[in-house]
Amino acid sequence: MQIIIFGPPGVGKGTQAKLLAEEIKGKHISTGDILREAVKNGTDVGLQAKAIMDSGELVPDEIMGLLIEDALSNAADTGFILDGFPRTINQAIILEPILDKLSHEQIFFIRLTADPDIIVERLTSRRVCSTCGFIINLKLSNDLSTCPNCNASDSFIKRKDDDEMVIRNRLKVYEDNTVPVLDYYKGKVEIISVDGTKSVEDISQEILSALVQI
Ligand code: AMP
Repeated sequence: MQIIIFGPPGVGKGTQAKLLAEEIKGKHISTGDILREAVKNGTDVGLQAKAIMDSGELVPDEIMGLLIEDALSNAADTGFILDGFPRTINQAIILEPILDKLSHEQIFFIRLTADPDIIVERLTSRRVCSTCGFIINLKLSNDLSTCPNCNASDSFIKRKDDDEMVIRNRLKVYEDNTVPVLDYYKGKVEIISVDGTKSVEDISQEILSALVQI
């Protein structure tokens, strides 16, 4: 199964993509995670991407095209969930021949929605485990001492791009560059829209039941 999970920053794409990956036994490909790893390792791509990511802008399509081709090169036999890609129409165009080479399976497009104010509130109170990527929301839990997922101590950090000014810029970049990607896919693939403000469990259930009905 080939899935694109789409929506504004902070709507819960990563959380749902991880759950879906387990369910379909496929690969979760998050371009944000790949870029953060590149920054951490100080690779050429990481060095080019760091300042762009910190300001909430988009890494150039040429770099992203190479990165996604590489990430998908060993996903030929498995299903996958693309999280954070494509983010521009140009990236959607770049993706087409890459997917054609892989297989001709049906692509499902899952769109999560939420109002910008909810996104800002969620992201300013988001903390991420620097060891395993587990996310907690300070509004729901303020025990940051031990990660409930990997048991790392004092590992929760605030992402640099979860600063309110940067979040507002990320939302603008999303409106200007990424929302048009939805129109690009309309009529081409099956689009499943789910309210991203529901609970993690409800969203996941809704996605799974929509996928089995298609
Ligand atoms: P994310 O974790 O998906 O919110 O991505 C974090 C940051 O990585 C974004 O704000 C962008 O700067 C960069 N990024 C991730 N995916 C892409 C993409 N497909 N195209 C351009 N930049 C990206």
